[in-house]
Amino acid sequence: MQFSKLVDSYEKLEAVSSRLKMIEILTEVLKESGKGEISKIVYMTQGTLLPAFEGAEFGVAEKLVEEAIAVATGFTKEQVDADFKKTGDLGLTAQRMRENSKLKSMRARSNTVSDVYDTMRKVAATSGQGSKEGKITLLANMFASATPAEAKYIARYPLGQLRLGVGDATILEALSAMSTGNRESKSMLEEAYNICSDLGEVAETLLEGGVEAIKSMRVSVFKPIRPALAERLPTAEQILERMNGMAAVEHKYDGFRLQVHKSGKKVRLFSRRLEDVTDMFPDIIAATLAEVKDEKIIFEGEAIAYNEATKEFLPFQETIQRKRKHGIAEKAEELPLHLFAFDLMYLGNKDWLKEPYKKRRAELEKILSKGKRIIPTTKIITKSPKELESFFEEAIEEGLEGIMTKDLEAPYIAGARKFSWIKLKRSYKGELSDTVDLVIIGYFLGKGSRAEFKFGGLLGAVYNEKRDMFETVSRIGSGFTEVQMTELEKLLGKTKTKTKPARVDAVVEPDFWVYPKYVVTVMADEITKSPTHTCGREKQKDGTEVGYALRFPRLVGDTAIRQDKSPEEATTTKEIIEMYGQQKKVGVKES
Ligand code: AMP
Repeated sequence: MQFSKLVDSYEKLEAVSSRLKMIEILTEVLKESGKGEISKIVYMTQGTLLPAFEGAEFGVAEKLVEEAIAVATGFTKEQVDADFKKTGDLGLTAQRMRENSKLKSMRARSNTVSDVYDTMRKVAATSGQGSKEGKITLLANMFASATPAEAKYIARYPLGQLRLGVGDATILEALSAMSTGNRESKSMLEEAYNICSDLGEVAETLLEGGVEAIKSMRVSVFKPIRPALAERLPTAEQILERMNGMAAVEHKYDGFRLQVHKSGKKVRLFSRRLEDVTDMFPDIIAATLAEVKDEKIIFEGEAIAYNEATKEFLPFQETIQRKRKHGIAEKAEELPLHLFAFDLMYLGNKDWLKEPYKKRRAELEKILSKGKRIIPTTKIITKSPKELESFFEEAIEEGLEGIMTKDLEAPYIAGARKFSWIKLKRSYKGELSDTVDLVIIGYFLGKGSRAEFKFGGLLGAVYNEKRDMFETVSRIGSGFTEVQMTELEKLLGKTKTKTKPARVDAVVEPDFWVYPKYVVTVMADEITKSPTHTCGREKQKDGTEVGYALRFPRLVGDTAIRQDKSPEEATTTKEIIEMYGQQKKVGVKES
């Protein structure tokens, strides 16, 4: 496929805000793509080079793209930079500079999608001494042979700022429409995606072998599985009722979720966002090799610093900070990292996802029976709400976050939030019993004492899975440190836009819109009904439209942005509505 054809579609995608229209445009593109090419189009549209677990980074900063534009167009670096300051988007600057280029076009022939993608892979692979010049040359050659519209996306792609507003769910629907003409195979494609975490591979498999080939895709070692997620309920009674009267109850550790993949002597670790974090945890690697004897295995757990003698836990964020301040070795000795394992997904060349929890758990306990650093989570099985409650209290006393209850008969449900796992967390008096994770979709300019930061707060949204849209739920104006305000302004300035991005549903107008990309954690007093927010918005009998909003929201945590969550992993509209229902039951007054 010609790159110009893909660029035409990207321009159309940027211009529409209807999700159905987006799916239509994408479907047309996918239909026309060939084998070996469709995965490249999928990765490009996702704004990545490869799936997250491959850890392929472009290694390209704005200054480098500016230099490449200058080389290709004959403008000076200063001129390019001055234009960028005006547009706020290097893509638009590249387009304008290409249009008014002082040099003759080097367009010998038009680029194909593969030409551009393969060159980007080369850009990413160029490292070491002289790599900056190497990257500039590769990018400059691409700019020189591009049309102005192509130049726009060649600049944006390696900076991770495509601005298409296309999420994974939209790509999955387009793939379904490509193969069956409708949404019919979407859930099957999603299941395949959940076990390999590689949308490019799903697309290639579909094109090559159709729906049958998708059905036969299986879990494999070194390809991370999208993690199962938990629902929440406020009381022990309600939890046991949902679990048909009996459940396993595990301690909930506030650590770092790790998926461990081992084959022979090779071990790789993946984060909750499916990034390869193997290099971050040499101690967990060593412990896996020493304590887990099975040839091939995939299991999952929570890594946390823990002192066995004193039974002291250290929340992971603090562990990381202390590591920075006091040196790793010293701390590691005092509070060594442990991995509290809670699930088993693959063993003995067999996919265990469909086995019931009780069987997966029994096998995991057998495997880890002699473990010292890798041990199963503390657990009971109970029918009694009283026993569940006292186990919860015990967990809190030990300094843990709460508990996780698990349905004994349920399979491992990859990539989804289901009632087969239900969490119960420490509740703060008069406050919501849990924090919420919001996607930043806009921000406000500072007034008064905030004016100097050019930052006066965020507009936060939750994710509506059904609509695949981001719906606003709150303005967040407090909880920020001065450092955080400066950093947020700098970061958001790069993805701001004058018009509302696709997939954002809002009534409130921020000073700047931001492409949904960053997630922050917020604590609030309660959830109220609100006419100004679009979260769960419904028409009332009197004709007015009312949604849900957070009351007195404030940012929590030292690091503003949650690096471990993508926008689609933020709190969902459904969860907010459930939390609203739950707070009424536990007696929080409606204002
Ligand atoms: P939350 O992030 O509050 O939605 O809670 C879900 C997270 O709790 C998971 O992603 C895990 O990282 C973590 N977790 C801690 N202990 C457990 C456990 N025993 N079982 C499952 N997840 C756990």
